[in-house]
Amino acid sequence: MNEIPPFLTPSEIKQYGFLVEAELPKPSNCQFCHKELFHLGARSLFSKVIFQWKGEPERCDCEQSAGYWEEVDKVKAKTESDTLKLKEQNERREKAEKLFDKSKMGARFKTRSFENFKVDSQNAKAFETVKRYSDNFKKHADLGLGFMLSGSYGTGKTHLAAALAIDLINKGIPVIFGTLISLLGKIRQTYSESWQQEDELEILEAYSTVDLLIIDDLGKERVSEWSLEKLFSIVNSRYENNLPIVITTNYNIETLIDKLTIDKNCDIAESLVSRLHEMCRGIRLNTPDHRIVKK
Ligand SMILES: [Zn+2]
Repeated sequence: MNEIPPFLTPSEIKQYGFLVEAELPKPSNCQFCHKELFHLGARSLFSKVIFQWKGEPERCDCEQSAGYWEEVDKVKAKTESDTLKLKEQNERREKAEKLFDKSKMGARFKTRSFENFKVDSQNAKAFETVKRYSDNFKKHADLGLGFMLSGSYGTGKTHLAAALAIDLINKGIPVIFGTLISLLGKIRQTYSESWQQEDELEILEAYSTVDLLIIDDLGKERVSEWSLEKLFSIVNSRYENNLPIVITTNYNIETLIDKLTIDKNCDIAESLVSRLHEMCRGIRLNTPDHRIVKK
């Protein structure tokens, strides 16, 4: 049998003598030139040549109609692309939430909000700064600007960082939060055969593209060459894509370089900290806030 086109006009169908599933719907008229417009026969799948009528009549070929359909198609394409964008944003958020949930510390930190942070004279300034950052996240994110929250143990920096994560996630902004060990632990898990949910690239991509990445307590854990390289590649790709990063640490810049140095080779540690220094403004905890103390 010769090749049959997928759509045929009613007269073509008649001409070929093909079987048609249903009655030909009533033709309509072009709203501009009033030409009679028929439904085309759409060939059904499978080997038998059976035609059904398309739900819509054919498009008129007059000039006004062409302009009309061009506009309709444009609106439809725009709606489709908006829907796709929304879907992608939702997927990114779901992924972030999944990773946040999976973090071993997730459950413990979920209760740490801005509301239950105990503000005192030592931390009031940092608290206000972090809260303002959250309120103006979009503005900071556009500049790729994050912050490094430093202060000694027990000053509440992890609570503040977790509160920021929760606040942003509640606003629908994807955030991944974790210690270096818990974040990189997920990558390590992909090396074991039983772990099949995500592969390494997928996780690295999530860390590199999520709207905000928060690394808690950097420098606390001993790093291996492997983890330092992964960390550097994540930080570097966020740097190149102008995406913010938030760090909490017990240390100042010099000590942090020291803590991230392996076998006296501080090259990667220095480049890493210098990137972070560029991307993050510093916020100190446990510096007395004189405005409050004076009262
Ligand atoms: Zn027409």
